[in-house]
Parts: sequence; C-alpha cells; structure tokens
Amino acid sequence: MLLFMNVTLPAGLDLPRNNFKLAMQNTVNFENTQIAFSSKSTTQLKKAEWLFSVVKKAWLTNLAKSTTNFLLRIGFPIEPILKYTVFEQFCGGETITQCESTVNSLFQNGGVHSILDYSIEGKETENFFDGTLETMLKICEYGDGSPEVPFLVFKPTGMGRFKIYEKVSNQTDLNPDEVLEWKRIQNRFDRICGAVAQTKFLKIMVDAEESWIQDAIDTLVEEMTMKYNTERTVVFNTVQMYRWDRLFYLQKIYSFGKKNAIRVGVKLVRGAYMEKERERALEKGYTSPICEDKRATDINFDEGVRYCLEHLDVFDIFAGSHNEMSCQKLSQSLKEEGISKNDGRIWFGQLYGMSDHISFNLANNGYNTAKYVPFGPVKEVVPYLFRRAEENTSVGSQTSRELFFIKKELLRRKNEKN
Ligand SMILES: Cc1cc2nc3c(=O)[nH]c(=O)nc-3n(C[C@H](O)[C@H](O)[C@H](O)COP(=O)(O)OP(=O)(O)OC[C@H]3O[C@@H](n4cnc5c(N)ncnc54)[C@H](O)[C@@H]3O)c2cc1C
Repeated sequence: MLLFMNVTLPAGLDLPRNNFKLAMQNTVNFENTQIAFSSKSTTQLKKAEWLFSVVKKAWLTNLAKSTTNFLLRIGFPIEPILKYTVFEQFCGGETITQCESTVNSLFQNGGVHSILDYSIEGKETENFFDGTLETMLKICEYGDGSPEVPFLVFKPTGMGRFKIYEKVSNQTDLNPDEVLEWKRIQNRFDRICGAVAQTKFLKIMVDAEESWIQDAIDTLVEEMTMKYNTERTVVFNTVQMYRWDRLFYLQKIYSFGKKNAIRVGVKLVRGAYMEKERERALEKGYTSPICEDKRATDINFDEGVRYCLEHLDVFDIFAGSHNEMSCQKLSQSLKEEGISKNDGRIWFGQLYGMSDHISFNLANNGYNTAKYVPFGPVKEVVPYLFRRAEENTSVGSQTSRELFFIKKELLRRKNEKN
C-alpha cells in the first residue's frame, strides 16, 4: 500500500519541512495472526473473543460498570468473576510475582518486553503514596538484570495528591503543610529515579495525566532528567500529542537537552483524557487544549514522532500507540533514515490485552517493543479495567479490528487441526 499525506503544522512552528510529503509503505505485516497470538492459548483467545464482543456494546459496558461498582460497594464477592474476565484479559496478576509468568510468556513467545504498571488509581493518602514508592522500588529490584523488563512506569498521582500538582501548576501559594507535602512528592520522584539510575540498563517513564496538572509534572521530570540523564537516558516524560501545543514543548525540551548536554526521553502518546479536557475547558471558558478533531491529533502525533526522530542526538523515543498507521510510519521512517530497527533509542509500546497483532509482529520483525502489564489487587484495579473497557467501546473500529484478528486466528488454528 502506498499512501501520500499532506501534513499541516500549527502556525509559527518552525520544523524541518523536507518530509512534508510522506510516502508511506507497509514495512511490517500486522496481519500475521499466528505470530500475533503466539503467547495465547485457544481457550484464552475464545475468552478474549467473548470479552471484546461484550465491550463493543456501550450499553453493556455501562451496565457492567454500574453493577460492578454497586456490588463492590455492598461487599458482594464479585472478584472471582472480574478476575476470570476483564482482569485476566488486561492485567498480568495481582502482585509482581504473579506477573512473572505473563512477563516470561510475552518475552519467550514473541520477544515482547514488559513494563509492570502498578495500576491502582484514585487513592490520596500519604500511606498509599509511600506504598506506591515501595512497590516501584521492588519493581526496580525485579527489573534490574531482567532483559524482559527494560522500563518502569508510574503515574504522578500515585506519588502525591492531584490538588498539590494543580496548585504548583497554577503557581498558587502553598501553605506550610502543602510545602512539606510537595517536598515529599519531590523526594518520591527522586528516590525512584535515583534507584533506576543506579541500575545498568533500566529506564523509567512518568505517565501524563490531565493538562491542568502537567506543568508541575513537566518541571519535576525536567529536574530528574537534568540530574539522571547525563550518562544515559534514564528518565522519560510523556507528551500527549492530542494537545495542539505539544510540538512546541518538544522543541523546548530539545533545546533544554542540547543546552545541558543531556539525553531527553519522551514517551509520545495521543492522550487519554479528551472528554474531560474538553468539558473542563467549556465549563471554565478557556480554549480547549485538545486538537480540533481526530485527524489533527493523528497529524500532530506523527509530526511529534518525526520531530524526535530527526533529533536523535538528544531524544530517546517511546511511541505508545495502538494506531497501525502511526506504527507503520515510524517503522518506515527508520528504514528510510537507515536507522537500525533495534536501535536502543527507539521503542514501540502497547497495553497488555490489546493490539497483540501490532506488538508481536513488530517484535518479530526486530523492533524494540514493550507492553504495559498492569497489576494490583483485583478490587483495586477496577477503575483501570473499566477505563480499558470504555476505551474499547469508544474506539469501536479498533475493537472490531481486535475481534477480526482473534477470529482469524481461531479459524487458522481450527483449519490447522483438521
Ligand atoms: C504504552 C502506552 C502508554 C500510554 N500512556 C499514556 C499516558 O501516560 N497518558 C495518557 O494520557 N495516555 C496514555 N496512553 C493512552 C493513549 O494516550 C491513547 O489514549 C490510546 O493509546 C489511544 O490512542 P492510539 O494512539 O492508540 O490510537 P487511536 O485509537 O488512533 O487514537 C485514539 C486517540 O485519538 C485521540 N482522539 C480521538 N478522537 C479525537 C477527536 N475527536 N479529536 C481529537 N483527538 C481525538 C484521543 O487521544 C484518543 O485516545 C498510553 C497508551 C499506550 C499504548
């Protein structure tokens, strides 16, 4: 397939325009389902087929969400059902140890790496934040020397209260208690990034969340980058390309890296909080930070990847996407630029339980590929699980694509047996 695409940049952005007209060819065949599902048994595939058929129906997902929340609230023992269904599809286990078989299976069956993602959300106590840090330090210990686990990841709100990030982002004065609270957040960031820096190869990514807390996170991650990315790329920030201002941010951190002679790690994603962002902007009467439509986000994402690829003297890239076209474009660009598929500065990433056809076919072709493997007690990861289910409901065509590949592989296995 040969595609030609005209790319429009935001006004005022001075980026190299030599690739303005992109010629795109499929460099990776994502349709090989034997490779895609090499780590899944037929029973697992049948269960996935059932699950994606369910989440495809928005009304069923909504009903399941409200029923589950109600049953959990009244203490009904619903965990075994959750565990057998959504949890098994989208999570690696309840503990680091339980994730080991998933981690090994991904790596041994397809060369896909794992990023253990402690997926508990919405808790705001100091005990919880300290507990998250301890868990991160344990993952660091586990990952150190394990080639299957090249990265760690955490959500900033796992290390401190949302409100504090918001206040710091708005440059609102903190009261004396809040000053101490912010110091504790800074210390937690520093302890985990410092521990990762002490290892030989591990790297750490900081997830991006809502735009109105991102300035505080950017500043903190830049401090960590300055401190730990001197010898190699240890710390990665996340840049959400559904924000129309983020190409400028990439330019800014490129200059920051260049000026200070440090490496800058960026995880590029489209962004997961679109509805919330738009609602807030409307409610508060400011311009929405989100690109005007999906096409604009797609262009912005691909431009962000291209910009980083053209500045590998500073950047390491982790492209976190389930978008086949974006993954094809990145692999095609590597080929055109003569950059090795397994160049350690470039990674592709997807989430566990989704887009195996992308992850496994990329890894099989020699590209550095990793999957977020979420884990945590079943009851505690429910918000994460429903976000995944809702995402698959809202991205209807992607779910159809998942189902298409699962069905294709089930048929292939059936024919092979006969
Ligand atoms: C490994 C990995 C790590 C991730 N980490 C983060 C993270 O730290 N922070 C975070 O926010 N998200 C994160 N995500 C989620 C990511 O931001 C996307 O929500 C998700 O991957 C879907 O986008 P896509 O590129 O896979 O592909 P697609 O399915 O092609 O794109 C869907 C995305 O396009 C955008 N979009 C859809 N409709 C519109 C519209 N009308 N107007 C404008 N934009 C639109 C939205 O961002 C939507 O999520 C991560 C995803 C992966 C795979």
